[in-house]
Amino acid sequence: MSLTNSQHDAIMRIYSSIQTRNRHIHEDRVEEVYRSCPRILDIENEIIDLSAASAPLIVRGGSDAMESYQSRLAALNAEHDRLLASSGYPADYLDPIYDCPVCKDTGLVEGKPCACFKKKVVDMFYMRSNLKNIVDSENFSTFSFDWYSKDDIDAATGLSAYDNMLNVFDICKQFIEKFDTEFHNLLIYGATGVGKTFLSNCIAKELLDSSHSVIYLTAIELFEAFGSFNDNDDPEGTAVESILDCDLLIIDDLGTELSNTFTNSKFFYCINERMLKRRATIISTNLSLRELSSAYSERIMSRLTSVYTMLKVFGKDIRIQKRNAQ
Ligand SMILES: [Zn+2]
Repeated sequence: MSLTNSQHDAIMRIYSSIQTRNRHIHEDRVEEVYRSCPRILDIENEIIDLSAASAPLIVRGGSDAMESYQSRLAALNAEHDRLLASSGYPADYLDPIYDCPVCKDTGLVEGKPCACFKKKVVDMFYMRSNLKNIVDSENFSTFSFDWYSKDDIDAATGLSAYDNMLNVFDICKQFIEKFDTEFHNLLIYGATGVGKTFLSNCIAKELLDSSHSVIYLTAIELFEAFGSFNDNDDPEGTAVESILDCDLLIIDDLGTELSNTFTNSKFFYCINERMLKRRATIISTNLSLRELSSAYSERIMSRLTSVYTMLKVFGKDIRIQKRNAQ
């Protein structure tokens, strides 16, 4: 879980609004109870007066004073609870209200993030990932090898589409398992409809669910985000900051953008920055490796070949297979 300052602040603002909302509800309840049963307010005032008056007596008088204080206090509390119940309120109606009783809506338990804090981080990452709805249907539990034929053989490797996908699937699983300990990037290439985006969505879901920030962008969206950004600007707090800093960046459909010197230089900047920060990236493309190297500069290709695992995916277009199966 790596949060930027602005992400951390955004979550702390959620806690502060929860606290404010619950404080208002609590104040309204107190007012309502006092109005319907004024004796309860009197009792609470008596308890305060009693405590103030008893403190010096206890210091001087010792255990007798303590005993009398405690029995008077117990009587007042009992009357308080009885009145509350007879007025039709639950026993905890006047207690402070918390969404999370564990951390009392502070997000911290003994200095460590509460489970509810981690949940908020996951929710935020999901919201910002552009993947909120997609990974419900595209994840490892819905992934099927049935779309990959055992008869469809790749001439270069001698592997069937099915066996090839077994390997690719295994590498994707390892990518997730070692995500926090090893710097690893994937470049998934192959024709349209062979499941490249599906695979990256499977990985995205696993990482989002374990509190990692993931951003999914098509190549076109990536270059649009960089379009309004100048290298000299302070990237703090901008979309570009998140693109460069998120735990996993997925760039889908590389090669569909209009390739020019601008996209080339931004693409290099993006993958190079992420490499220097040791932030993982998954790129998917319909281009072959040969087409990639003619579309992008040599320094881009040298980054890609040095720190990316190249995964070829092939088979028959799954969308067409599904259509024919209906
Ligand atoms: Zn909590």
